[in-house]
Amino acid sequence: IIHVEGLRKSFGSHEVLKNIDFKVMPGEVVTIIGASGSGKSTLLRCINLLETPDSGHVWFHGQDLAAEHVDVNALREKIGMVFQSFNLFNNLNVLDNCTLAPITLKKMGKAEAEAEAKRNLEAVGLLDFASAPSTSLSGGQKQRVAIARALCMKPDLMLFDEPTSALDPEIVGEVLNVMRDLAAQGMTMVVVTHEMDFAKNVSDKVVFMDQGVIAEQGSPSKLFTSPEHPRTREFLSRYL
Ligand code: ATP
Ligand code: MG
Repeated sequence: IIHVEGLRKSFGSHEVLKNIDFKVMPGEVVTIIGASGSGKSTLLRCINLLETPDSGHVWFHGQDLAAEHVDVNALREKIGMVFQSFNLFNNLNVLDNCTLAPITLKKMGKAEAEAEAKRNLEAVGLLDFASAPSTSLSGGQKQRVAIARALCMKPDLMLFDEPTSALDPEIVGEVLNVMRDLAAQGMTMVVVTHEMDFAKNVSDKVVFMDQGVIAEQGSPSKLFTSPEHPRTREFLSRYL
């Protein structure tokens, strides 16, 4: 569903992504791990064109996102993104957060959008909060709404950038459980995370980034039990 090839991105003289190649197959859950500054967020942002790559290709459903005739907005509607900082619309209640994009971007009718929003809020355990102001929610609840909101666009791919890093430790689990359910339902997901248990137990593939390159990638059992690259071993040793 995603094929990244020869991707490079610099900010000024700092080359943040150095020739990245990787693939995500339909239904796969890929986690990206690595130290701060290794380029994880920049890679995610290149996948949905929040950043423009300097060179290389990102294919989504076989379409080159860099090609001039590509309808970027239409493609981006098929890619959901969840950030560390939730980014809910604070002036809207929970339900309206979920229906805004489907109504304005997809021209979905209000009733249909609300029905879809309620389905997704139920899936994340927050149907009872549909009419609550989004500012009244806890961090974990906000993040679950952010996930439900992304799902309302019926994406083919969900990108998560450290979705639990801003949360208190005791509520990290409620968000990870929602993500685990989503994975079990077959959603294709790319997840940047420091939650090694999630990477180990939920993902099909783990990508270890180090200083702008993919130092190693493979199955979680391989990567966590017998990492080949010294930098992977060093990184993982900090989490044991
Ligand atoms: P973290 O774990 O801290 O989120 P990361 O692996 O996500 O780190 P990136 O956010 O991709 O790392 O950043 C990689 C490097 O690129 C960092 O050195 C960062 O300072 C730099 N960088 C990222 N975005 C920009 C930008 N818009 N302008 C300039 N430099 C940037
Ligand atoms: Mg980051």
